[in-house]
Amino acid sequence: MDPTALAAARERSADHVASLRRALDSLVEDQSLSSADDEHDPEGVTIAVQRAQLQGLLSAAEEERDELDRAAQRMAAGDYGRCAECGGVIGAERLEALPAVRTCITCASRPRRRRTAR
Ligand SMILES: [Zn+2]
Repeated sequence: MDPTALAAARERSADHVASLRRALDSLVEDQSLSSADDEHDPEGVTIAVQRAQLQGLLSAAEEERDELDRAAQRMAAGDYGRCAECGGVIGAERLEALPAVRTCITCASRPRRRRTAR
């Protein structure tokens, strides 16, 4: 993963966050225009469900963008591609698939319990 590819991934991720935020905003707008009588309005319930789904997608997208920001910071510091657990090198293929990943495949596949037990 070179800096340009990482920057492109960050840009895509930021766009994704922005478009989800717009969708959520317009949904909130629609809701405030529709009747306030949500309990007896089946459409009101649907909007509430859609809104909850969009909020979930938005926070996941924001998290991904933040992870990519941290990956860019690690790259600037020269730590990119090093495992946060064992300090080993993370495979290029793994970084290609998951640009923001912080651990090597060995550490990632190790059971979580054993890591926290130490
Ligand atoms: Zn590792």
